[in-house]
Amino acid sequence: MKRILLFAFLSMGLVACGSDSSGGGGNPIVASGLQNAQRADLSGQASVFTGNLGSGVTFTFPAVKDQGYLISFQSSDSSDQVVLDFAGDDGTGLKSKTVDSGDTYQYTHIGKSQHVLVIARPRNPFNTAIDVTSLTITGRGSFPEDAVHVNFVVAGKHTGYGSFGDMATTADQAAFTTAVMQKVQQHFAQSGIAISFEGFAYTADQVKAQNPSLIGPDDMALCAAGETVGSSGFGLVQTQGLDAWGDLGFDKTDPDFDRSRGINLFIVHHFSNDGTVGLSPRPGVLIGRGPDTALCVATFLQQGSTLIPRTADEVALVATHEIGHFLGLLHTTTFTPDPLRPSEAIDDGVSDTPECLVTTDVNGDGRVGIGDGCPDETNIMFYQSGPMQTVFSQGQSQIMRNLLSLQEH
Ligand SMILES: [Zn+2]
Repeated sequence: MKRILLFAFLSMGLVACGSDSSGGGGNPIVASGLQNAQRADLSGQASVFTGNLGSGVTFTFPAVKDQGYLISFQSSDSSDQVVLDFAGDDGTGLKSKTVDSGDTYQYTHIGKSQHVLVIARPRNPFNTAIDVTSLTITGRGSFPEDAVHVNFVVAGKHTGYGSFGDMATTADQAAFTTAVMQKVQQHFAQSGIAISFEGFAYTADQVKAQNPSLIGPDDMALCAAGETVGSSGFGLVQTQGLDAWGDLGFDKTDPDFDRSRGINLFIVHHFSNDGTVGLSPRPGVLIGRGPDTALCVATFLQQGSTLIPRTADEVALVATHEIGHFLGLLHTTTFTPDPLRPSEAIDDGVSDTPECLVTTDVNGDGRVGIGDGCPDETNIMFYQSGPMQTVFSQGQSQIMRNLLSLQEH
């Protein structure tokens, strides 16, 4: 069975940051990385940590551009103070703030949407006896959490696809769109999120007029991709290719509300690097077009000089996985420095996704992944794609719903 990467991992030379790097920005916090980071419950109901703070704890949450998050800290001694250090997914320090026991701090996320890593540590490093009674983060809005719209755009030509008449006519494109999106809707049913969609097609000439670099030979639409694991243990998505597609999304002033507040999903011919079949910002922005507003899924897998067409069901699974990223989910396990020779398997911090401790290529297929005994390989957010993947956990579903509640749509 052919196993497909949802993300490619670049050559090992590019993974330069060790997992114990202190990262950029002079921020000391990322040493503990993502491995032990709690995944914050953005409803603010569950405490991300209670008990003895010791030298500090790490937690993470998906931060959407321009959204505010409330962080509340309480301890048994009202004179306690903690410092909250915020770092981006590449380990760069973003902000640092001292908070008194009993206070709430509003963190507003400026700049690119990304998973933010936070350490809460004693302001006085010698005060390692702080007894935390409550540490919560609230990122909940009032927008619908049970529905999201997808602008499904077939881009360029898909000559040689085989089925759906190579998507040469409007009717063929519509049939493909429906086949893929019905399957996506089925995958999402377990999460309590209803997916609506509208189908579109851009000709190669239309795309070219906006950005010639997105069209290759034979009018094929292309997306550039790449991912490395950063010093903080996050998989860092290279988003330049996605952002170029994001410029072709629907504007926030579009008179059709759903289009203006939907996920722009572009069906491209293939990715310009081997092994990748989908890419998404993590998380994405629902409103309008531009950076972080688009995800790409390919109809063909590139392997060297070969292009292998993907079935509608395979495209649908990848689309589901990428929408999961768009709505704030990480891979259930991140292998660092890469899945070829991992020294560490980093958990996503979601309490009800099984933790994979495997770092050995048990089945000898050259990488640690499907078939090596990871209990999360049936989860839709496993990093590799296979036909057995059907599961979003309840925790993952709640994260996606929280993200939806924050953004007008
Ligand atoms: Zn992924």
